[in-house]
Amino acid sequence: MAVKTGFVFHERYLWHDTRSAGGFIPAGGMVEPDRHAENPDTKRRFRNLLAVSGLLEKLVEIAPRMATEDEILRVHGREYLERVKKLSAENGGDAGVLTPFGPGSYEIALLAAGGALAAVDAVLDARVQTAYALIRPPGHHAEADQGMGFCIFSNAAIAVHHARAVRGLARVAIVDWDVHHGNGSETAFYRDPSVLTISVHQDNYFPAGRGALEDGGEGAGSGYNLNVPLPPGSGHGAYEAVFARVVAPALRRFRPELILVASGFDGGAMDPLGRMLATSATYRSLTRTLVEVARDVCAGRIVLTHEGGYSTAHVPFCGLAVMEELSGISTGVVDPFLEFFMAIGGQALQPHQEAVIRAAEKRLDFLH
Ligand code: ZN
Repeated sequence: MAVKTGFVFHERYLWHDTRSAGGFIPAGGMVEPDRHAENPDTKRRFRNLLAVSGLLEKLVEIAPRMATEDEILRVHGREYLERVKKLSAENGGDAGVLTPFGPGSYEIALLAAGGALAAVDAVLDARVQTAYALIRPPGHHAEADQGMGFCIFSNAAIAVHHARAVRGLARVAIVDWDVHHGNGSETAFYRDPSVLTISVHQDNYFPAGRGALEDGGEGAGSGYNLNVPLPPGSGHGAYEAVFARVVAPALRRFRPELILVASGFDGGAMDPLGRMLATSATYRSLTRTLVEVARDVCAGRIVLTHEGGYSTAHVPFCGLAVMEELSGISTGVVDPFLEFFMAIGGQALQPHQEAVIRAAEKRLDFLH
């Protein structure tokens, strides 16, 4: 059954300039200039495949707006906002840790956060049941007083604050399947029992020292943060098991009124930064699980905000699989990588991955 699904995009998202780099290290010294890993290509090609497959025209276009300063300030400090604004008006700079940007990126970052806000409003107004915000720069690493890991403003966290403060929702959940830890979202709600944050990521990868299983929230927020740090090399079986045994039960227990997903495809088998084995079938399956839970607990309301994913060839097929599941529309497009990647050794759940999932299951007892 087709589900009314919204899609947020703006050409300006592709104009955010991350400067030349070798991978994610700024060019200079012994690093020969090349394209930064976080560049427009995966995003553009994701949308291109949606268009060519015929799915894009069946989605409801949602126009992004620029987030206001007050909306940004629900998560970030005034000093940080002013610093980014000033640098952006001059010649660009770095928002903090590994977050280079060029002139005009402040406005583009406002438009990215505002894209997440527009998607949330469209879903809460029931104009659509679900929505995907293909926004850039990404958000889930950004902390209150500094940018981090290519993220300037914490898009998902800003959208959750909006859903709580302006739209009056009592409980919201963030599920982060990006291969890196969702530290920005975790920090924003670490002491807040009204927002359940769940991050499924590669163990102690980025940021270093964040995303431990034991980090479960603080004070009133104790128990309302779940980290599942999967060992490098985890694939389809591990991801499916985490979502079936940890993420879905946690959401059913918490009963959010809206589910936000920080959607990065850098857990994909071909990603240059991640060291996992996920395929388009993996992301399809995770989406299906979340759609089922959302139908049961929050009238199907899911908003996905785009995060990482750096394989230009593979990301579009992972993205298309998510959009097909979300919308309930099958395009008939076959992922040409799927057969290769599903045949990789270690796609099934491995014993050392099972051990992490079992430990994470125990954390559900803290969720009350
Ligand atoms: Zn990532």
